[in-house]
Amino acid sequence: MKAVCWYGKHDIRVMDVPEPEILNARDAIIKVTTTAICGSDLHLYNGVMPTMEKGDILGHEFMGEVVEVGKEITNLKKGDKVVVPFTIACGDCFFCKKEIWSGCDNSNPNPSVTQEMYGFTPSGLFGYTHMMGGFAGGQAEYVRVPYADVGPIKVPDHLDDEKVIFLSDIYPTGYQGAENCDIQEGDTIAVWGCGPVGQFAIKSAKMLGADKVFAIDHYKERLDLAVEENENVIPINFDDKDVYEQLKDQTGGHGPDACIDAVGLEAHGKTADAIYDYVKTNMYLATDRIHALRQAINCCRKGGTVSIPGVYGGYADKFNIGAAFGKGLTMKMGQTNMMKYLKPLLKSIEEEKIDPSFVISHELNIDEAANAYDKFNTDKNQWRKVVLKP
Ligand SMILES: [Zn+2]
Ligand SMILES: [Zn+2]
Repeated sequence: MKAVCWYGKHDIRVMDVPEPEILNARDAIIKVTTTAICGSDLHLYNGVMPTMEKGDILGHEFMGEVVEVGKEITNLKKGDKVVVPFTIACGDCFFCKKEIWSGCDNSNPNPSVTQEMYGFTPSGLFGYTHMMGGFAGGQAEYVRVPYADVGPIKVPDHLDDEKVIFLSDIYPTGYQGAENCDIQEGDTIAVWGCGPVGQFAIKSAKMLGADKVFAIDHYKERLDLAVEENENVIPINFDDKDVYEQLKDQTGGHGPDACIDAVGLEAHGKTADAIYDYVKTNMYLATDRIHALRQAINCCRKGGTVSIPGVYGGYADKFNIGAAFGKGLTMKMGQTNMMKYLKPLLKSIEEEKIDPSFVISHELNIDEAANAYDKFNTDKNQWRKVVLKP
């Protein structure tokens, strides 16, 4: 079968690889009908996430048709149309039972790396490094889904793939980012990063009762989209304006009630701390560029919340813990607890409260994956979100 494989920094190849097989009684094999490239795939493309190996199959956002199930799978049958969440969870462990699905204790078969770095290991992820389990991803014609009785959600045949594919990651991820802000009716929220996750965080903040939302980015098309898609969104282009001053001026001097960092470890910026991050990460003296997070902490009002749906991987330098402590901030973060959101968010799509396909800018054949990764990485104005058809 065809699959999008990682061969090193900026080296993506579409290869012929063996088709996956059922290995365990709770597996399913999915014939992929639509898959997407995620902003977090670019961390792999740019070679900043450790424990990738040449030939690894990429992709954690995918959906398709069930073609085979293991003997313990009773909830799915051949022909079902499903979306598969990007985290893998067993459904039976201490953490799964508490709905801390991204903390599943059983789904990551390579716990040693993260055990050492993080103290404990997070759940397995599709197509996302060997420290996250080394599972083959879904940017391929077929994919093996472990614990298929827990993750995949059946979607009605009449809903187009484009409307439901983003239940696999970015819609729930943006939603959890907003939900973690504990939004009260009329709150003011600021969102750093208006890529796809930021767009869903903005829409979700609105659905949860936010009044004014500040959208912060330096790509004009992304800011325009946030303004077009929502009411009362105020764009701030950080190339033109001082973010802190803008937010202070427009919130009566307080700062926003909650700040969402939808950027993560490869933040861009022009301030001294952002340049310092570039230098240190380029010299391998730091792992994560945390400029957006520092700014979110500095801008948030006293007693407010900083929510982090953006991905971080290692250690943060010049982390302004003093500001966070001094203002009494609440910080919430983490991989999305996907299985908590799949049903309610599918319902929101069925009830036409949201049509997630608004983020798609390009739909291409999987053969064009290498070009799509390159363009998505370098031309963020035009290449907002890419879906691939195997
Ligand atoms: Zn993703
Ligand atoms: Zn579990």
